[in-house]
Formats: sequence, C-alpha cells, structure tokens
Amino acid sequence: MRKFFIYFIIIVNIFSNTKNIIYLSQWKVDENFELKLINSNKEYKDNSLKDLNSHNFLWEIITKLYPKEILYKIKSFNIFIDNRNEDNQFLAFIEAIPNSNNQYFSINIDISDFYKNNSFLKEKYIDTLIHEFFHIISLNESQISQENTGYLRIYEGYCKKESYLNQFYEKFWEIFSKRNSNFIFKYSELSYEEKIKIYTKYENQFFNYYALTNPIEDIAVSFEYFVKLGKENHFKNIKRDKIDFFYNYPELIKYKNYLTEKKNRLIIN
Ligand SMILES: [Zn+2]
Repeated sequence: MRKFFIYFIIIVNIFSNTKNIIYLSQWKVDENFELKLINSNKEYKDNSLKDLNSHNFLWEIITKLYPKEILYKIKSFNIFIDNRNEDNQFLAFIEAIPNSNNQYFSINIDISDFYKNNSFLKEKYIDTLIHEFFHIISLNESQISQENTGYLRIYEGYCKKESYLNQFYEKFWEIFSKRNSNFIFKYSELSYEEKIKIYTKYENQFFNYYALTNPIEDIAVSFEYFVKLGKENHFKNIKRDKIDFFYNYPELIKYKNYLTEKKNRLIIN
C-alpha cells in the first residue's frame, strides 16, 4: 500500500553539521582514480596533518579497499578536521555531488581521527571506510529517486520501495520512531552525554549510540557489524535481526566477502 503519510522524514542536511569543519586539502578524482589537487590549506598550523603525502596515502587505501564500480562513483576526495570534541564528531562523511542525481559522491575524511600520537589507526580507518561504503551503495540513484515515491524521504530524495534503506526503515524504524518520538527527532542535537544516557536504554537494539541518530546511520553501522561478524555472532533479538537483514541480499554478501578480504590484506601490509 502506498503511504501518503511518511512519519519519519530525514531531511536534516549534512551541511548543518559541517559548519565547524576546516578543509586541509580538496582533490578531484579522475577516471583512473588518480587525485588532482584543487585546494590545500596553507594557513593551518599543524604541519603533520597538512602533509599532502599522508592525504595521498589515505586515498590509496580507499582505492585498495573499494571495488571499481564503487570507486568510479567518487569524484572528489577531501581531507578535513573538525572542531568538535572527541566524542561527538564526524570521522568521515560522503556527500552527493550537486546535480549528479546521486550518481557521484565526494568522500571526506577527518584526518585527525586516524592519526593519534604519530601513529596511524589503520583498522579504525578501514572500518570507517566500510561504513561510508554502505552510504554510497544505499544513497545512490539506484536506491533513491528524485520523484516522490511515497516512501521514506531523505535529504538525497525519496527511497524506492525495494531500497535497502526503505526495507530497513519499515522493519526496524517505522514503529520505533513513532513510539520514541519524544527524543528521536531531536537526538542529533543532543550532547554526547545525553545521547549515551538514552543509548543505555536501547543498547539491546542498536550497536552504538551513533546508530540511534537515524535509519541512515543505523543501517550503515549495522552493515559494519555484518561485514565484521556475519552469521556467527553473539547478538540476540533485534541486533541479530539487523545483521541477518543483509543476508537477504546476495550482492551484499559478495561485498562483505570482498571487503573482508581486502581489509585483511591491508591490515597485514
Ligand atoms: Zn554514517
């Protein structure tokens, strides 16, 4: 049945959260997946984070982790830092390239989250890239329409009925967001402490406090666990169902295997 009333509308624009960020470098990605520098920040004081070699290195890992059909959707690569406190910040985000009908994306990395005390947190970086990978495959034009489908509306457009996000939303969020409307619609504006306090009540349903932000984040966080753990996991009830959700899609099982293999290779090298 077509829904005329969409209860949970996620049109919170990513830009409202990106006001506090400073770009250290901005790059165009060409058809051979090579970077062309567009801008670099000369004023920023911390030289170690400004080093373009390390920015190139972070891009190289993306090219080694993602399959070609996803890489070719990335047209821009940006390194930033944010001013948010440690616990309540972006590690990375993707954004649809304007007027590309969600065919192409930029990928944006907060370099300060992955270099700590002169060491590179490789596994944390790869896990973050796996999270962003799911955003790319769930927010592109094959999943999201510019026309009103009558299903979940998000910043990028309207979910198609069979899209991963709409299916996940109907299964895990439709009733949940109605029942918890007292906090769920203002959740992203709460402080880290307030989020953690709420999360302790719902940790049987969500993998971390950030997953409570909205269905887009919940499905991407759940995908991380699906890739990491798979069928043999100790989770019960809804968390188990969230991992099992992905097993309905043979192409996602393929991606899980692909990403796991690439991750293992990157970790040892
Ligand atoms: Zn995310």
